[in-house]
Amino acid sequence: MTAVTPEQLLHTGPAQRRAVAKAITLLESTRPDHRAQADTLLTELLPHTGNSFRLGISGVPGVGKSTFIEALGLYLIEQGHRVAVLAIDPSSSVSGGSILGDKTRMERLSVHERAYIRPSPASGTLGGVAEKTREAMLVCEAAGYDVVIVETVGVGQSETAVAGMTDLFVLMQLPNAGDDLQAIKKGVMELADLVVINKADLDPDAATRAQAQITSAMRLFTQHGRHHDAHADAAGKVLQLSALQSTGIQAFWQTVTRLRKQRSADGSLQARRRHQALAWMWERIEAGLRQEFRQHPAVRALLPTLTQDVEAGRLPASTAARELLNARHTR
Ligand code: GDP
Repeated sequence: MTAVTPEQLLHTGPAQRRAVAKAITLLESTRPDHRAQADTLLTELLPHTGNSFRLGISGVPGVGKSTFIEALGLYLIEQGHRVAVLAIDPSSSVSGGSILGDKTRMERLSVHERAYIRPSPASGTLGGVAEKTREAMLVCEAAGYDVVIVETVGVGQSETAVAGMTDLFVLMQLPNAGDDLQAIKKGVMELADLVVINKADLDPDAATRAQAQITSAMRLFTQHGRHHDAHADAAGKVLQLSALQSTGIQAFWQTVTRLRKQRSADGSLQARRRHQALAWMWERIEAGLRQEFRQHPAVRALLPTLTQDVEAGRLPASTAARELLNARHTR
């Protein structure tokens, strides 16, 4: 792999997209020398990052995420933006398969010169995949993509990861969602800054019903004070649209822009990013320590017997943990 220079990335032009793709491939590589190059590159790019709006989008397979992202992306490009779309596919870390990646998605957006679409990093733990995606986001920002969309499917942990790396997290629902609010995982509703009911064209009445039901559910979370936006106005945060017919896209973006301005003015956007950066650092420290711990020779020697002892009830879990932690200090 030939080196990618910051100049290639920062300079807008035909070579830039290739440089972005190369840089992301570099940081996804597991080779230690690639990792070192990627770290240097990211540090050089850092002053040029942070200027985009980071939008997280989630929903079950079939809800219309790719249709929506394509319609939104094309609308944003028309408004003069440059759009990057990244994905976190939780299935790839489990099965090596893919929920998000297989079909031909976003055909018009993907060939547009002002858009860059990258599928999910293929392997690793969710934490690892999330880290690569965060880094890819920084590369896209440095290259001047001013809206970065991070997409995931509706599997709790990956939604938490996406909400944890974006400025605004959008949950997509189907028009019948309101009929069974139990089906919407409560934790995920609390993560959502906006809820979009898609496919409103199929059943406008159901969509309106769902909008009312989800709005009152959102209001409940806000009252309980667990929702991070104290000024949350639930009524304005549940929208309906049709991604297929491209209706409601402009209203969606107006809502996003209004929230963004409001949160930027009251400082909560900046606070969210600071918090995310520190959480990212600690998550990586913990992952690094865990890996180091598991690789320590004394730990590896002790682990099989202690595991059996704990499983068989011969040794308290806490005692085993203490022994293993102490084993690190022996040579
Ligand atoms: P994803 O799996 O969430 O990415 O969903 P897709 O974007 O692939 O959409 C799944 C199916 O729903 C496709 O056949 C789309 O054409 C269809 N679809 C998406 N949005 C709408 C919509 O607003 N209205 C209708 N009627 N169909 C839609």
